[in-house]
Amino acid sequence: MKYIEEFNDPERAGRLLDEIRATVTRPWALMEVCGGQTHSIIRHGIDQLLPEEVELIHGPGCPVCVTPLEVIDKALEIAARPGVVFCSFGDMLRVPGTDRDLFRVKGEGGDVRVVYSPLDALDLARRNPDRQVVFFAIGFETTAPANAMAVHQARRLGLDNFSLLVSHVRVPPAIEAIMAAPGCRVQGFLAAGHVCSVMGTAEYPDLAEKHRVPVVVTGFEPLDILEGVRRAVHQLERGEHRVENAYPRAVREEGNPAALGMIEEVFEVTDRNWRGIGRIPASGWRLNDAFRAYDAEHRFDVSGIRTEEPAVCRAGEVLQGLIKPTECEAFGTACTPRTPLGATMVSSEGACAAYYLYRRMNAPAPRGSRVPQEEMNPVG
Ligand code: SF4
Repeated sequence: MKYIEEFNDPERAGRLLDEIRATVTRPWALMEVCGGQTHSIIRHGIDQLLPEEVELIHGPGCPVCVTPLEVIDKALEIAARPGVVFCSFGDMLRVPGTDRDLFRVKGEGGDVRVVYSPLDALDLARRNPDRQVVFFAIGFETTAPANAMAVHQARRLGLDNFSLLVSHVRVPPAIEAIMAAPGCRVQGFLAAGHVCSVMGTAEYPDLAEKHRVPVVVTGFEPLDILEGVRRAVHQLERGEHRVENAYPRAVREEGNPAALGMIEEVFEVTDRNWRGIGRIPASGWRLNDAFRAYDAEHRFDVSGIRTEEPAVCRAGEVLQGLIKPTECEAFGTACTPRTPLGATMVSSEGACAAYYLYRRMNAPAPRGSRVPQEEMNPVG
């Protein structure tokens, strides 16, 4: 109980934990999809407070971590060009490409700037008509509306010196890929609340039904996560596999119609490579034909880049929940936040960084074996 006093309502946390303990009768493995949830879990020791039977597997929901190496290398190439102002959120600057990162490009004279919004980059384009301003548009469904808005505004203002380097990814196809992967142990999902605040919950019932897994839309505070776990365990013990919204203060079933409308107007679905995982069909967005002129990949012709991941890095297995970060030989030795070999050690949402930051330095003890698939959901 060493961390429980840090919860904003320790009594409620205690009640939720008691209820989970009273409900669980056998081992269950739940995946929290979002890296923000992973950090909250590790920071507050939630996984250590839960009964032994409940294992939390860390998912791929860190946008920095899953941005593919070839896109990082394209960013590096564009950022190094004369006349370019390359804008990004700060956490992308230290993500290693094949042989350098954006900090290195900046140190070598590239005009790389940290911004807090794509609209900041748009403003730079307005004030610097003789420069090409590029914004690094990465992320899940959460960041897509603002990026869509930026390019929509650029067209409205007639700015032809603004473009996006797009690497957007979508959660539901990733869940599909995780469930289809050999060795998958996931029996239920804590879906990312902020993604669902944009997209709503309509994409999840089919996934829950097809794979017979509960999907509980969950927030990010410790109490939110405990509530998500409580509901998921409750469903699993009863043999159910429904979509539940445990984050109603932010998520409506229909999502955010204005944000969805902006995404629909600007982007189209495409296949996307995920760093360490590989190609997932229909798992991303790119600018559609109407906005293709604002696509930095077209504007700067950066096709033909070939990349190779460091052989020692097992971030792909970490991102799919197949191993814990501490099971990677390089964890905490060759690979630390100061010397990251993979994106999961760089990003503030990466699982490797979370384990390092909160001093989880030892490999996990073996848990109870997985319940066979045919015994998972006997009802329905
Ligand atoms: S500890 Fe470093 S090398 Fe190992 S999987 Fe994580 S990022 Fe890759």
